[in-house]
Amino acid sequence: MEHAGIAFDHVRKEYPDGTVAVEDLSLEVTPGEILCLVGPSGCGKSTTLRMVNRLVEPTSGTITVDGADVMSQDAVQLRRSIGYVIQHVGLFPHRTVAQNVATVPGLLKWDKARTRARAEELLDLVGLPHGKYGSRYPHELSGGERQRVGVARALAVEPPVMLMDEPFGAVDPQRRRSLQQEFKDLQRGLGITVMMVTHDIREAVILADRIAVFSQGGVLEQLGTPDEVSDHPANAFVEDFLADFGALSN
Ligand code: ADP
Repeated sequence: MEHAGIAFDHVRKEYPDGTVAVEDLSLEVTPGEILCLVGPSGCGKSTTLRMVNRLVEPTSGTITVDGADVMSQDAVQLRRSIGYVIQHVGLFPHRTVAQNVATVPGLLKWDKARTRARAEELLDLVGLPHGKYGSRYPHELSGGERQRVGVARALAVEPPVMLMDEPFGAVDPQRRRSLQQEFKDLQRGLGITVMMVTHDIREAVILADRIAVFSQGGVLEQLGTPDEVSDHPANAFVEDFLADFGALSN
């Protein structure tokens, strides 16, 4: 799988009602890393993420994925080439697990044998043996299992880049830790570049190679490894934000 990075260069997003969600963001996600965006509610994390696959279009500035400007690409093709996982995975309720995973290969008109083989391989990869789970329907799964299907679906076309918005938010706390670790192992193995939004700083510490701490307006207060951010907060804002979560070590 090719490695790709994401780069924001002086990106601004002003919504039509005048809300400036992101003022002037410059940020690079290094190929193969997991970068977590954290910060208080409403600080522009989701807007930032969604500009990468053009669910939201930037007002100005440039965003590139693997060096290519997202605005110069076809939006639908761009979206299909980037994995996207959200809190409520949005599986199709009347399609089986295997059919859900095969959604994008189906849209891309892969032949049936290749699509089936890929869906089976991915279900096995995310710990849902296809023989047991492939023909089930989403309502026959636990929240954690549904989330795994969401990850498998996002991986179907080997996207070099994945965007994840609170991907484990709907999973109960006990299972969340093991799912996080499994996801990290998977990501390492595949070498995918991941940009992830989380409100859970502990999740960021477990998963991230680097953490970006935002304040209102998508202002980048600190960018660093989990250790750098927790041991050396750049300023009072970061310190207060971390303090709200209590000690990070437990
Ligand atoms: P976060 O993900 O950090 O909670 P968001 O990116 O969702 O933040 O929102 C950033 C700001 O933009 C907030 O003030 C939010 O109310 C506003 N916002 C988000 N989406 C829209 C929209 N479609 N129209 C107008 N304002 C929006």
